[in-house]
Parts: sequence; structure tokens; C-alpha cells
Amino acid sequence: PYDVLVVGGGPAGAAAAIYAARKGIRTGLLAERFGGQVIDTVGIENFISVPYTEGPKLAASLELHVKEYGVDIITAQRAAGIQQRASDAAQPYLLEVPLANGATLKSRAIILATGARWRELNVPGEVEYRNKGVAYCPHCDGPFFKGKRVAVVGGGNSGIEAAIDLAGLVEHVTVLEFADTLRADEILQRKARSMPNIEIISSAQTTDVVGDGQKVSGMHYIDRKSGETQHLAVAGVFVQIGLVPNTEFLQGSAIELTRFGEVIIDAKGATSLPGVFAAGDATTVPHKQIIIAMGAGATAALSAFDHLIRS
Ligand code: FAD
Repeated sequence: PYDVLVVGGGPAGAAAAIYAARKGIRTGLLAERFGGQVIDTVGIENFISVPYTEGPKLAASLELHVKEYGVDIITAQRAAGIQQRASDAAQPYLLEVPLANGATLKSRAIILATGARWRELNVPGEVEYRNKGVAYCPHCDGPFFKGKRVAVVGGGNSGIEAAIDLAGLVEHVTVLEFADTLRADEILQRKARSMPNIEIISSAQTTDVVGDGQKVSGMHYIDRKSGETQHLAVAGVFVQIGLVPNTEFLQGSAIELTRFGEVIIDAKGATSLPGVFAAGDATTVPHKQIIIAMGAGATAALSAFDHLIRS
């Protein structure tokens, strides 16, 4: 068995594996896709001390760095659950991760770092113009739209927060909400409505994103009250209809999740199951960013080491 098994090979998992391996303990890393969301990112301008990099380049450096420590890396395999082995006097703390292919990995401690995925609109043009105007992260991509007109799809807290954030950078923000009322907190709605360059349109069903093949030039939506199709001329479409944690495989396990599926962790990264820690976008960490996920991965690994020397 491993001393520490990291499940996930994004920024959180890579940081956790490096911190664990540097303690000289047997470390494994299981990842369906090494690099995680970073692979799907083009420009990264907020990875502190690196003014500009690109996702595939950062993902390659992550892998190189992890490999320097002799971490046992298993890719293209999926974790299908987590369980504590029935009490065994010889190995009282052994945890097991069954894989989708039928194998089982065993470890004394586990770090869950399976990340998340943005909920997609599933309309024509969304995939074609991803990173060419269709964006999911205002902290990441907002500055690319300085002085331009953008749309935010989604009137929940993340959509309205994104609109307020973007309004300080771009010329104009149109918020489109499918329902006839916004779901965002009243205080955020009030703030957004007070800003002169934010327009909020409810009962709006986004139907497609359009452009010239290279970049976004606009989008269409159906006004659900009149049934009419409307065009918005925008350079960017921020999709803010939810971030889904990759934690379906933990449903029904002893790991406590929020109603959104996030792994509940404490300040040390500990979950509800002793010996199991978690980090990054899959958890209740308040902001989902590369540098935050890396810090959380380091925290989880140091806490896992602490747990091992006590057990
Ligand atoms: P992830 O990166 O999601 O990695 C999860 C890992 O777990 C992957 O290896 C995945 O294959 C693996 N995995 C998932 N489920 C399983 C399973 N069942 N079994 C085994 N392995 C599994 N952040 C910034 O700071 N700056 C930016 O500029 C930026 N731009 C972004 C642009 C885009 C398009 C996207 C999508 C995100 C962007 N982000 C950016 C956010 C950033 O990528 C995430 O916050 C960060 O990657 C989270 O790291 P993580 O390790 O928690 O999870």
C-alpha cells in the first residue's frame, strides 16, 4: 500500500504529491487526466511570479515536477469510490480506492483532489468559441475583455458577482437569466442594478454564440415572454451557471459532501473520514483558482503526513 495516495492530477493533486513525496513516504497519484482543468486553459496571467503562461505548458511542468520525486503516477484510470477496510489489527488504518477498471488501490492516507467542471450551456457556438470569447472564469479572463461589451449568462450569485467584477473592466455587461427572477442574493442584485454599465435581462433563454470563426461577435437569446429572438453584440460570453465538483464517485461514502457535492474540509484539509484529506476545486474552498488549489494541496499533504506520524 501507499502511505499517501493522491486522487487527482490537477494543480491541487500535483502540489499534494510533491509535498507528500518530499517527506520520503510512498506516494501514489491517480489521475484520469494529468493537468486537470489547466490543460483546457489558454492564457494564464495570475499564476504569481509567472506573468504569462499557457495551460498545456503549466500542465507539462506540473508533471515534470511530480516525476522528479519518484511519485507512482497512474493515469487514464478513474476512482469509483473510497472505503475504509474492515477493521484489521495488522493494518488498522488502511483505506481503499476501487477503480472503475476493477482494480483497488490501498493507502494509509488519501488526498482527494478531483477538481470540478463548469456547467456548460450546451448551445451551438459554445465549444467552437471556447477561449475565443466564451469564458467561464471572470478572475481569469476578465482582463482580456477590457473596454469591450460582454454578456454573463446566469443570474445566480456567481453570475451577478461576475457582472459586478467585469463592470469595472469592460465597457458594458448584459446579464441574461433564464428564470423570470434572479437567484442572486438581494445585496448583490442591488449593487449590480446600481452600476450604470450593467443591464439585467430575465426570462432570457440563450440559444447560440456566434462569431467570425476566430472570435465571438455576439449571441442570441429568446425573450421567453414575447417568444422573440434577440441578438446581442458582445465580444465575450461568460457562462456562470454553476461549477460541478467531480465528486459523484464519493456519493454514499463516508466522506461528507455539501448539497452542491463539494467535499467538506476543515482548515487542515481534513474530511469527515479520518486519514482522508481533500484540496482544490472539489472542496468547500471558497475560491477556485490554480494558486489556491496548489496551496490547498500542500496543506492537505502536510496534514496527511501529520496524521501518519500519529497513527
Ligand atoms: P482540476 O484542475 O479540475 O484537476 C482535477 C484532477 O482530478 C484531474 O487530473 C482529473 O482528471 C482528476 N479526476 C477527476 N475525477 C477523477 C476520478 N474519479 N478518478 C481519478 N481522477 C479524477 N485558474 C487560475 O488561477 N487562472 C486562470 O487563468 C484560470 N483559467 C481557467 C480557464 C479555464 C477554461 C478553466 C476551466 C479553469 C481556469 N482556472 C484558472 C481554474 C483552475 O484551472 C482551477 O481552479 C484548478 O485547475 C483547480 O485545480 P484542482 O487540482 O483542484 O482540479
